[in-house]
Amino acid sequence: MLKNRVNRAISGKIPEPTGLENGLDIKLSNSLDTGGKKNHTSESNVEEKNNTLNKLSGKVKAQNFNSKSQLLKPIPIAQLFHSIQGEGIDMGRSALFIRVAGCNLTCPTLPCDTPTALTPTRFPMLRWEEIWEWCFSHLIGTPLLVFTGGEPMIYARQLYPLLLLHPFSVEVETNGTILPPFKSQPVWRKVRFVISPKLSNSGEPKKRRFKPEVLSQIARFAPDSILKFVLPGENPDRFLPEIEEITKIAPLPVYLMPQSATLSQLNQSASAIAQFALTQGFNYSDRLHLRLQLP
Ligand code: SF4
Repeated sequence: MLKNRVNRAISGKIPEPTGLENGLDIKLSNSLDTGGKKNHTSESNVEEKNNTLNKLSGKVKAQNFNSKSQLLKPIPIAQLFHSIQGEGIDMGRSALFIRVAGCNLTCPTLPCDTPTALTPTRFPMLRWEEIWEWCFSHLIGTPLLVFTGGEPMIYARQLYPLLLLHPFSVEVETNGTILPPFKSQPVWRKVRFVISPKLSNSGEPKKRRFKPEVLSQIARFAPDSILKFVLPGENPDRFLPEIEEITKIAPLPVYLMPQSATLSQLNQSASAIAQFALTQGFNYSDRLHLRLQLP
C-alpha cells in the first residue's frame, strides 16, 4: 500500500525524478521487501509484528483523534531513510530519519542543505500510519527517530502519533522559530530538540529567524535539547555575539558545526570550527555521514 501510494504521488506530481525522490522510492521499496534480511519483517516475525502494530495503532487511535482533524492530514515527505545520525550529541547512533518537505523560512543567502524541502508540493503526501509502517519495518536495535526537514514543527500535530508510538528516543531538528505544543501534547517534553537557529548570514530578517520566546520555552520544557550553530570556516568568531545572545535566552549545550554540503567543504572548515569551539568552551559537531558517504 505504502509503495503504491508513494509511486502514485511521484508519478502524479514530479516530472523528473531527482536523487531525493529516487531515494525515497528505493528506500520505501526496500522497507516492504527486505529480501530475507534479519529484521522485524522476516517471516517468523510477521505475525508478531502485525499484532504489535495493531496494538500500537490502537493506542494512537484511542487518543480521540478525529479523522477530519488537522491531526491526521498527510505530510509532504521528502525522504525516509535509515542511517547513522551524523551530527550533534547523538553522532554515530543508528537513526530513522523522517525528512519533511516545507519550511517557514527561506534563508535566501544560505546554501540550505535540503533545498527540495522548500517545495513541498513536489513530494508524496504520507499519512502518519504509512510513515509508522516504514518506521516499524526498520525497528532494528534501538534507533533514534529523527524528524528533520525543512522544518518539522510545521507538522507537529501530524507527527504527534509517531512520538507516542516510537519506543526509543526522538530528536527534532528545528530552526527554533515554532513553539512545540508542550502544553496540549506533553510528550513533546521528552524530545531532544536540536535547535539550529539561523544567524545574520541566512538573509532572513531577524524578526523572522529569532524567536526568543520559542527558544526559552524549548530550553525550559525540553531540557535535553541542544543548540547547533552551522558556521562557515572563515572568521567564525564574527558570529559570537549572535550565539551569546541566543545562549542567554536558551542556556543549552552548544555545538558548532562546519557549514558544508560535501566532504571536501567539510574538510576545508572543520579544523577552524573545532578550534573556535575550543576557544569558547563549545562542543564541535562533525558531519559524520559525509565522511562515511551515507545519506
Ligand atoms: S531553516 Fe533550514 S531548511 Fe529552512 S530554509 Fe533555512 S536552512 Fe533551509
